[in-house]
Amino acid sequence: MPKLKRLLMSACFETAQRRRHCSRNQEHEICQGDKCLVIKENMSKNNYCMECAALILQKAQEELNQLAGELESPYQKGHA
Ligand SMILES: [Zn+2]
Repeated sequence: MPKLKRLLMSACFETAQRRRHCSRNQEHEICQGDKCLVIKENMSKNNYCMECAALILQKAQEELNQLAGELESPYQKGHA
């Protein structure tokens, strides 16, 4: 079996090695030892606090649901 392609290669949770700021809102602080969501985009790396991580995951979930929805009812329009 060929390996399935992973969609979310670029996202993972990490423990902050030092104090960081959230990439979405610089006022959000990520303390050393805190869990944070790291998203790698091209050459840059963004850290998000857990509050923003929840929003990002929620958005991704919605997008996945939408994609999955299209998968379930393919080509209903114009192909009948
Ligand atoms: Zn944040």
